[in-house]
Amino acid sequence: MDILIVLEDSSGKIHRLGLEAIVAAQSLANSQKLSVSSLVIGMNADDLSSEASQYNMDRVLKVKNDLVSSYSSDGYTEVVKQVIERESPKYIFFGHSYQVRDYVPKLSARLMKPFLADSVAFEVNEGLTVSTKQMYNAKLLSSTVPDCEPPYLISFQSAAFNSDNIILGSAQIEDYDISFDSSIIKTQSEEPFKESGEDLDLTSADLIVSVGRGIGKQENIPIAKDLAETIGADLSSSRPVVDSGWLPSVHQVGSSGQSVAPKMYLALGISGAIQHVVGMKGAKNIVAINKDPDAPIFEIADYGVVGDLLEIVPKLSEALR
Ligand SMILES: Cc1cc2nc3c(=O)[nH]c(=O)nc-3n(C[C@H](O)[C@H](O)[C@H](O)COP(=O)(O)OP(=O)(O)OC[C@H]3O[C@@H](n4cnc5c(N)ncnc54)[C@H](O)[C@@H]3O)c2cc1C
Repeated sequence: MDILIVLEDSSGKIHRLGLEAIVAAQSLANSQKLSVSSLVIGMNADDLSSEASQYNMDRVLKVKNDLVSSYSSDGYTEVVKQVIERESPKYIFFGHSYQVRDYVPKLSARLMKPFLADSVAFEVNEGLTVSTKQMYNAKLLSSTVPDCEPPYLISFQSAAFNSDNIILGSAQIEDYDISFDSSIIKTQSEEPFKESGEDLDLTSADLIVSVGRGIGKQENIPIAKDLAETIGADLSSSRPVVDSGWLPSVHQVGSSGQSVAPKMYLALGISGAIQHVVGMKGAKNIVAINKDPDAPIFEIADYGVVGDLLEIVPKLSEALR
């Protein structure tokens, strides 16, 4: 086995970041003629494995063991460690999710192998493995070449790869037997972290109107809400809007909020700080309204309007109606 992708469960479906990790693996496999397998764990392993088997890869390993029917960092560390020791993959790919941030450092320590976390690109060049990561608010890119023998653990930042580019195929599903003593599990996890409130699932929204500090004050939030309602979009925000108490925290997009990938993301008065951008740069179309022509959001926007959102947005809603 060359590449192993560890796929995360998102309520019975493969987590979006896992789909992006499959694209990363398929692209490396194509350029280097490598084999790709994936691993699914837990009570939804049947659903996850049948979903994974529709993508172009060789094997889907399915681990169903009562000790890991739900997530625990000790349990997942043990399962992935045993699979790596048995199958000897060179590269183990993950999406850079909250769960991965929780248990993969432990796995890395157990294996004494590097964890190349939050990579935005990955290549094998003339025999060298190179992982690229953003630094200093994405102003610099750093390349890391691990100075040891494989395996290497690599997690990918949201939207580093586009899940639309996934290659379909048919993979063989294998029941994979892993056993270990229950005393290994020393931690107990609470209910899985829900990235959104019951009635606000931004992660699957097609249209998002997002409001930043540029909205000025809470009394102006209805201007953005009105636009969202007019076009049937969900409303999200940057962190200062939540910190100021203008919107509840379920609306926050970014590194400490939700990761979204809508067809259109309309950013109103958002500067484009990296902590915000990592949560929304997977959007297919980014439209930004900002009065500062040098705002970093314009570097990633497909369409930009330089101007005062308090003047533009009410007229835009009116015109759209
Ligand atoms: C550990 C950590 C985690 C973080 N997590 C997150 C996160 O999850 N999500 C997040 O968003 N941030 C997060 N941040 C904060 C982040 O660094 C930025 O401070 C934040 O994203 C800025 O939000 P903003 O763009 O709304 O505000 P600002 O950076 O203040 O930008 C406001 C923008 O509005 C424009 N503007 C002002 N008035 C108008 C107007 N009338 N019309 C049009 N444009 C106008 C300005 O030109 C400016 O570009 C985090 C920071 C840290 C340190």
